Amino acid sequence: MTPLPLPSEPPALFKDLLVEPEEARSILRPQKDERYGFGFALSPYRGCGHGCRYCYVREYPNALHKPEDWGGWVSPKLNAPELLWSQRHKLHQARVFMASATDPYQPLERQYRLSRRCLEVLLLCPTTEVIVHTRSPLVLQDLDLLKAFGDRLTVGLSIPTDDDTVRQVVEPHAPAIPSRWAAAERLAAAGIQVTIGVAPLLAVHDARAFARRAKSSGAANAWVGGLRLLKQDPFYKLLADHGWLKVLDPDYKDGIRTAFLDAFPSRKRKREARTEPVAAPAPAMARQPGLFDRVS
Ligand code: SF4
Repeated sequence: MTPLPLPSEPPALFKDLLVEPEEARSILRPQKDERYGFGFALSPYRGCGHGCRYCYVREYPNALHKPEDWGGWVSPKLNAPELLWSQRHKLHQARVFMASATDPYQPLERQYRLSRRCLEVLLLCPTTEVIVHTRSPLVLQDLDLLKAFGDRLTVGLSIPTDDDTVRQVVEPHAPAIPSRWAAAERLAAAGIQVTIGVAPLLAVHDARAFARRAKSSGAANAWVGGLRLLKQDPFYKLLADHGWLKVLDPDYKDGIRTAFLDAFPSRKRKREARTEPVAAPAPAMARQPGLFDRVS
């Protein structure tokens, strides 16, 4: 594999972001999902410029950065594509989730193209299933490459609320909700399988209209996932200050989930066939969804 040229002089700052390129020692993290079995998580970056205020990754052990610095630094893994190429023997009939600890299409990807180059490697692994999960319409810059995967690739777009004023508070550096809908529509229109991830579930204005919007985007599937708070999480106060503590209520989540099951009836039928109650009570502080959790 011929390495592509990297940015010659990585900027110290990228729109107020501290950029700290690094050479990664590993790139595929084994991941077990209770429903879909084993897979690998692939993160071409450490850190995330979207800096969502609830992000559970902010607490991951890090010698250089405190949780409150989350969103202010990113380490592009400069050797990610080459490392992935060297590990490709692990990927036969495996599933790769990109990414669980960063957004592969955060703004830096415009410059570094590490996610694209990792996808180019995965394209050469014909039995590997790929799930690209993002909050950004920047994913559209790789539309042709995504299409080349055919039905072994899914793009998951995270749209945790139907209200962009909520997004502006909790995901201030992530793309606006309308731009995510537009991205979902363009991807689906291009024949790419799209899943809407309502995760982590935030305050929703109109659940049924939200679910109908997801369906009309052309998405094939949707899932609803709960918020996971850290110990003594300052995000709890943010929720309280805005009157959004309802998002921690299992009944609230079940109501949203039911609206999505109604909008995606094929998923509902599969769920019922498994005799699993649609509104199964979830534990308080519901767990963050598994990598491949869906609505049904
Ligand atoms: S986009 Fe994902 S990884 Fe990035 S800050 Fe938001 S939740 Fe965390």
